[in-house]
Amino acid sequence: MTVSMTDLTAQYRVLKPEIDEAIQRVLTTGTFILGNEVKSFEQAVAEYTGTSQAVGVASGTDALLLALLACGIGEGDEVITTPFSFVATSESIARTGATPVFVDIEPNTLNIDCQALANAITPRTKGIVLVHLYGHPCDMTTLMSLAKKHDLRVVEDCAQAMGATWQGQKVGSFGDCGCFSFFPSKMLGAYGDGGLVTTHDPVIAERLRILRSHGARTRYHYDTNGFNSRLDSLQAAILKVKLQHLPEWIDSRRAIAARYGETLDTIPGVQTPFEHPVAGHVFNYYTIRIDGAAARRDSLAAHLKNSDVASAVYYPIPLHVQHLHSNLGYKHDDFPHAALASHQVLSLPIYPDMTRTQLQQVIDAVSSFKGFKYIGE
Ligand SMILES: *Cc1c(COP(=O)(O)O)cnc(C)c1O
Repeated sequence: MTVSMTDLTAQYRVLKPEIDEAIQRVLTTGTFILGNEVKSFEQAVAEYTGTSQAVGVASGTDALLLALLACGIGEGDEVITTPFSFVATSESIARTGATPVFVDIEPNTLNIDCQALANAITPRTKGIVLVHLYGHPCDMTTLMSLAKKHDLRVVEDCAQAMGATWQGQKVGSFGDCGCFSFFPSKMLGAYGDGGLVTTHDPVIAERLRILRSHGARTRYHYDTNGFNSRLDSLQAAILKVKLQHLPEWIDSRRAIAARYGETLDTIPGVQTPFEHPVAGHVFNYYTIRIDGAAARRDSLAAHLKNSDVASAVYYPIPLHVQHLHSNLGYKHDDFPHAALASHQVLSLPIYPDMTRTQLQQVIDAVSSFKGFKYIGE
């Protein structure tokens, strides 16, 4: 049997009665865009994250774009971010007309390096987009004090980190906005696209609600250039059912990560994920590092494939060297930690419903890779 990166059908088999009930409810009420289902899910997420407001949108990418716009970011502004993330992180900054400014990452968490960030602040810096990569939170103590000192807007990309904590506080509740994705493979996966922005600020929340509905405060009165970016009622009803299970899913992911760690830690040349003492990692991805050049990591991935085990590289090419950002003039080795990580990371299957047999199959497949023998020779 193949072990895939994630398996939402296993989850559906368990939740079928609750999910089918939610879908039927929406179909019989006949409201499919926004409405009470979306409102009620938004309230549940605000409560879960410890924020006062939540605004559902069409995707995690739109959550970032609308959050930046609602924070007043645009042409002429610089926004500092990480080069080691999914493209939506920097694409959304560029989309506002602002300039993404990349800085290197920390070698252990692979999150944005706070010292490098501090050094990159200029009079034109208006904000930061930080990413809680793989589900490990950024150092929010340092980042929030830097932001306060320099009066910067903070947008948290929480797409991979719903439920993650820093000093016990949930991500998405530190900055001006927290941006979530409900892409099927994320912590809380919809049956399609979906996203959401959390905030403490009612003014930002109001701007987000206007932006997602064509810039209209009231129907047919368009105050600003907006978007059609709304969360479907069906997805909201499904997500509200799933949100109740998120805490237990996080526990399962952490338990699987711990069992991976016990074995994989003993293999020379493999680094298992780092967890900061005050961080609550949620392991949206279980990402190991393989010492050496990309070729060794890639041959491990091929070996896994032969053993019917999926794996993925998040991300093989850092954002600062993507053609999309070629106008910014960065070079590959501008950020050595990001460059090295892009050659060494490999994410293994992890999802709450993974069985012991599946986990063992992955562990056996990794352990039987001959390539580790030659590390350091
Ligand atoms: C998935 C993801 C996004 C985008 O979310 P979509 O819902 O797919 O648009 C943004 N940032 C990061 C870090 C992601 O992993």
